Amino acid sequence: MWNQINSAGQWSGEIWNRRKNGELFLEWINITAIYDEAGNTSHYASIFSDITQRVKAEEKIRHLAHHDPLTALPNRTLFFDRLAQALLKMHRKQGKLAVIYLDVDHFKSINDTLGHSAGDELICAVAQALRSTLRESDTVCRLGGDEFAILLTDIESADNTSTLAGKIFHAVSKAYSIGNKELRVGVSMGISQYPRDGTDAETLIKRADIAMYQAKKKGRNRFQFFNYGLEHEAERKMSIQQCFHKAVENQEFQIVYQPKYSAGEQRIIGAEALLRWTHSELGELSPAEFIPIAEETGFIIDLGDWVIEKVCRDIAEWRSLGASVVTIAVNVSPVQFHDGNLQQTLLTNLTRYQ
Ligand code: GH3
Ligand code: MG
Repeated sequence: MWNQINSAGQWSGEIWNRRKNGELFLEWINITAIYDEAGNTSHYASIFSDITQRVKAEEKIRHLAHHDPLTALPNRTLFFDRLAQALLKMHRKQGKLAVIYLDVDHFKSINDTLGHSAGDELICAVAQALRSTLRESDTVCRLGGDEFAILLTDIESADNTSTLAGKIFHAVSKAYSIGNKELRVGVSMGISQYPRDGTDAETLIKRADIAMYQAKKKGRNRFQFFNYGLEHEAERKMSIQQCFHKAVENQEFQIVYQPKYSAGEQRIIGAEALLRWTHSELGELSPAEFIPIAEETGFIIDLGDWVIEKVCRDIAEWRSLGASVVTIAVNVSPVQFHDGNLQQTLLTNLTRYQ
């Protein structure tokens, strides 16, 4: 500061100053040298403003941009930053790290039964449990909703990751007292590791998410490490999901009828309508594979409607050919019972095809 005032006659910048009561404050100060006729410095003029409030406000904005307001944990943006930094560091020193995705099981039912604020309280309690079980060097963030991400750095071995993941799992998957109730809460976790499962942030996050999804699928309340089989499965699932509507248009779905034969009467007494799909790229798909995906996306309702319509149409056609028609059974997904308009679908088709 003095160097510049002496050489240029002026300086401005931020300095910490102290009030008479001893309190520190940040000021923006401008100092100008004033010269006498002989050109010697006679005075200094200083103008300053207290910028403590402005700096506080800026800090708050910075904090809000990088943290979740409910739990004060880092948010997704900051998590990405920290992960990218940690990756550079681990790359330099040939270290290992792990990314964990964690999602609370059946959180919606807590919101639905106890209310949104109890849900919020539980999210905070989970955040607290996570924070208190992690080391200082680890990062935990809230990605949104009931979903958290954890970054574990300087991991010695896969064994070590497993132990740490187990520790985190047991610290979080437990009974919480929310309001005046004891709630048993389960969580599902997916884990990806650097460098084994990927070397960039995006891939590691995606793969931890895939593993988490698998943990949910296996029945929840468990943790699952990523493996390449899972990714293959996730891609296959996506391709199934994306082709549903096109498959109907392209008439890729088919109904086959499995006869029910009475051994006593020695005749066919009925049939069960079974759905088959020959996917344009993946070939023959088992209903055991595509039905759960259709249920998850809600497409099962359209598909179920299509099956009922098609069976009714087939029966009408057989009858017009003079065949004596037996009872045909159609399988209906519980999702269609619950969310569809089954009664209307049945009524429409029974009327239409008599
Ligand atoms: P799953 O076991 O499959 O994870 O089921 P889930 O019920 O936990 O469902 P999911 O994780 O998909 O959804 C989380 C729900 O959390 C969705 C939304 O209604 C609720 N939610 C999202 N953000 C908040 C929040 O800030 N506070 C509260 N109370 N609820 C939230
Ligand atoms: Mg959840």
